[in-house]
Amino acid sequence: MTAYDNQNIFAKILRGELPCYKVYEDDHTLAFLDIMPRSPGHTLVIPKAPARNIIDIKPDDLAHVARVSQKIALAAMTAFKAEGVMIAQFSEPAAGQEVYHLHMHVMPRNEGVALLPPATRKEDPKVLEEHTARMIAALKS
Ligand code: AMP
Repeated sequence: MTAYDNQNIFAKILRGELPCYKVYEDDHTLAFLDIMPRSPGHTLVIPKAPARNIIDIKPDDLAHVARVSQKIALAAMTAFKAEGVMIAQFSEPAAGQEVYHLHMHVMPRNEGVALLPPATRKEDPKVLEEHTARMIAALKS
């Protein structure tokens, strides 16, 4: 398998070299909004430890990501008044992976509302700021 590349965009976000719409952080994980959301509140949960995807992540690091994905899923359902929530993780190009640092997509869903296709459009920064605030508030409640 291809080795982990520490120049990927999420590694740069982790090092503080690029900004993100952060909603949650702990010792092992970071969660931030997807800038091209497929549904309102689409959030990414990543491990702080380097891992390309599901193939090479250490089980303990994956466990931290899973725990935080559940926390984010519950907050996103509250924040966006969603009826459901979808979790997705793509590993390798054949599965649609584009950024090579493991991430869980957490996407609030409502009945009859289709997901946008990946990378449809960049969301307005004002909207992302407002959604960040909503997520942070829901995580505190
Ligand atoms: P994947 O196809 O699973 O690798 O998904 C990568 C995701 O990262 C896509 O949903 C992109 O919209 C998202 N993305 C790319 N660059 C950024 C960024 N700088 N901040 C937040 N999300 C990003």
